[in-house]
Amino acid sequence: MLPTSDDKTSVRVAVRARPLNSREQANFQHSGLTLTADSQVIINNEKAFTYDYTFDVDSEQEDIFITTTRDLVDGCFDGFNATILAYGQTGSGKTYTMGTGFDISIPRENLGIVPRAVERIFEVMEMKTRDCLDNERDAPLFDVMVQFVELYNDELVDLLDRASRGGQGKRPAKPPRLTEDKFGNVVLADVCVKAVKSQSDILDWLKQGALARTTGSTNMNAQSSRSHAIFTITIKQTIQDSLPGETVSFRTTTAKFHFVDLAGSERLKRTKATGARQKEGISINSGLLALGNVISKLGDKSLKATHIPYRESKLTRLLQDSLGGNSKTVMIACVSPAADDFCETLTTLKYANRARNIQNKVVSNQD
Ligand code: ADP
Repeated sequence: MLPTSDDKTSVRVAVRARPLNSREQANFQHSGLTLTADSQVIINNEKAFTYDYTFDVDSEQEDIFITTTRDLVDGCFDGFNATILAYGQTGSGKTYTMGTGFDISIPRENLGIVPRAVERIFEVMEMKTRDCLDNERDAPLFDVMVQFVELYNDELVDLLDRASRGGQGKRPAKPPRLTEDKFGNVVLADVCVKAVKSQSDILDWLKQGALARTTGSTNMNAQSSRSHAIFTITIKQTIQDSLPGETVSFRTTTAKFHFVDLAGSERLKRTKATGARQKEGISINSGLLALGNVISKLGDKSLKATHIPYRESKLTRLLQDSLGGNSKTVMIACVSPAADDFCETLTTLKYANRARNIQNKVVSNQD
């Protein structure tokens, strides 16, 4: 559920801490973060940051989906676009939270946001169909489509095209490109869009696209992902508008839901990157910086009429149709509670706090 108090911004920011892994547990490495029920993160009893939601190490995937995403899925059926983004350093739980890894045969309770959103889409379609038939209207027509692109070194890669061509080696005839339609809206051209009929069709494309993602190794994590991955589900519905006895009329709405697994936010110095890796790092950092600026402007009620700097990066241009305007956006900042990661965790907490612009509460009576 989206909160109704506080303010009416369509941007929400959550923080999720992953559990310590077995190596970190063995070393008793806890960084001193406390996530409170009133959505604060307190660091060593001294400094507090406030967000819309916080999810502690023992939070469940289902709770995260229900709190952050389910309403956004339902909103797509009312024509609202949506974007959910996972931000954080490599290894902080972005892929786990989003469920955009290629292993989709994991236990149900561990399923991330995307498979749960897919299930909800089909649930809502069934409910809407039943409702129309119960009210003697024609069953609605639904067209569901998916696309999956990654932004790597500021270049767009069509993962579904790559997957259809059988891997990384073959270059597509034309890579996807951002252009503008006659109304001045940014659109993605030359992208492979797959029509899907079932939940398993969607999950199959998700898996194939995830396998085709570009990965490279840094000192932090051999499989760290150095690209932003954007999986998009488009839902088009044509629904009978008229009541029984009236002239039959139909209404069509289309909405897009972007699920974004952002590249690792770790700073270049820590990864000791050089050459190609360093170039990747610079392009990642500038995209994340621009994204933070856009989200922060969108969430600032006092700046309603102000220009939103979408054009600052390819990432923000790509997401423009589903960030701001009539769209709902949730960013989940993922953090590690390990002492070794403290500096990156603090950087992530500050980034997410700035993006959301909520007045931080003062730490008091904490012991
Ligand atoms: P990222 O995508 O940020 O690089 P991952 O999602 O791959 O990070 O997470 C790193 C490791 O931590 C993975 O093995 C993942 O399964 C595990 N992990 C992350 N978050 C959780 C969680 N909330 N509960 C259990 N395991 C988690």
